[in-house]
Amino acid sequence: MDAEASPAAGETLLRTIRSVTKQPIRWLVLTHHHPDHHFGAIVFRRVGAKVIAHPDTRTLASEGGPDEQVINWIRVVGLDAMRGFEYADTPDRPVTGSDTLRIGGRAIVVLSPGPAHTPGDLMVWLPAERVLFAGDVLIEDGVTMMVDGSAPALLGALATIDALGPRVAVPGHGAIPADPGALVARTREYVTGLRTEMRAAVERGIPMKRALDPLPPADENRPVSLNSRRRRNAVRVYIEEEKGVMGLTGDSAARPMLLSSDQLAEWQRRGEVFRLIDVRTDPFTYLKGHLPDAVYLNTETLRAAERGTPLQILSGDWYAQLFARLGIRWDQPVVVYSAGETHNIDATFLVWLLAGYGHPRVYLLDGGYFKWELEQRPIAKRYPKLVPASPPPGTFRPDVASLDDVRRAVERHDALLVDARPPDQYAGEAGAQMRRGHIPGAVNHYWQDDLGQEGFGRIWKPADSLRASYRAQGITPDRRLILYCNSTTEASHVFFALKFLLGYPDVRIYTGSWTEWSEREELPVETGGTEKAGATR
Ligand SMILES: [Zn+2]
Repeated sequence: MDAEASPAAGETLLRTIRSVTKQPIRWLVLTHHHPDHHFGAIVFRRVGAKVIAHPDTRTLASEGGPDEQVINWIRVVGLDAMRGFEYADTPDRPVTGSDTLRIGGRAIVVLSPGPAHTPGDLMVWLPAERVLFAGDVLIEDGVTMMVDGSAPALLGALATIDALGPRVAVPGHGAIPADPGALVARTREYVTGLRTEMRAAVERGIPMKRALDPLPPADENRPVSLNSRRRRNAVRVYIEEEKGVMGLTGDSAARPMLLSSDQLAEWQRRGEVFRLIDVRTDPFTYLKGHLPDAVYLNTETLRAAERGTPLQILSGDWYAQLFARLGIRWDQPVVVYSAGETHNIDATFLVWLLAGYGHPRVYLLDGGYFKWELEQRPIAKRYPKLVPASPPPGTFRPDVASLDDVRRAVERHDALLVDARPPDQYAGEAGAQMRRGHIPGAVNHYWQDDLGQEGFGRIWKPADSLRASYRAQGITPDRRLILYCNSTTEASHVFFALKFLLGYPDVRIYTGSWTEWSEREELPVETGGTEKAGATR
């Protein structure tokens, strides 16, 4: 794993490996594309290793082009160390979600935690040993560089590590901590603290130079020393927060988040500009009363039959037109609310589609309309005066799995299926379709189990509790996960929990779902209650 900072250092690593084993070196995993982690890779290529890496090789250090990067690096490690250098970080086996190698009967999972330290971050996980190689997402002193990554993505990566629950976490630099959870907590505390400070500075109109004043000065000629890292991170986070305040994020790393009714009320009080969307199932509830300035969307507008199979998602062009018509702008936050109670799935479905289009700031109102009304907050009957927006700039790439993907998961167990429907439908005791039961091997995680009672309302359970309940079912972040339900909406709720709240890297929805599967009589069906199917790997 990783190949040191130069061919000379790579040779030393190779000799060290050779002093332990004569086995062939088949794979080299690069945790990211910073020179100090891959400039020795050519040594391993030459002895026949294939490279596993994230295909996104961009970093600040590489901005001036490959030759300039080498020249700059020679200044760091010296010409002697760089003799025989060639770039060798282009992956033979690219990983963008998660991938499992089986070597000598041992499973080795390579997974992408998102663009936390760099756009091309990977981590390596040994599930049997519960050992994580975190790359530079974790650094001994908890001050991970975010200059090539982003603070929101780093927080997401930390959530992924928490969800894995490693016994041992090996950081990219420095000693292995006695308590991995403590290092994760320390890193998180540092990132959130810095974000809060910089956000406050931006909001009070304090210029960046002055906001950085309390920090120790950067060390000259040592760009990644602790003091230099602190300052450079602060610059990066100041700019992130400034963009956030100005409504120009473009930060594709930002994941949809929960918004409490308190937070939304605060946004309204401050006069924040955002698009509010009411997706309650029954349009008459909207006419009777809705949150001020909310525009109505019925989620059934978002689906139609495809080749006869009902309730399938539509093409990106269709959604682009609809989003524009609803006044959804890509430079403003979108807040989606459902009825709350037990109807959250209308909201998570729209959130999943918006995320599929790469909207940078999507929020889900926790507790929905029900909680808002219960708290006696303002309700309106007037419609919003909105102008159509431009269509979304990106392309529509939702996280979907095909029927073939699911068939393969059943036959080869290369992905874990999660059924988000109620237990009686999973067991085959209820259901509207032609056949009842579930897809063989699927684990049942009923989406409503992720909600807890608060007063009369229903809100999301805290992340720790969600994490524990998924883990208890063997639904862990090192696995490729395919979710299904009756027709995408219930699965989108589990997707929101796993991908957005818990930071799982490889989650997709089988959009044909039980509606398609059950009607194809040649496909196998299983019945019976939930058992822990977590052992198949
Ligand atoms: Zn690095």
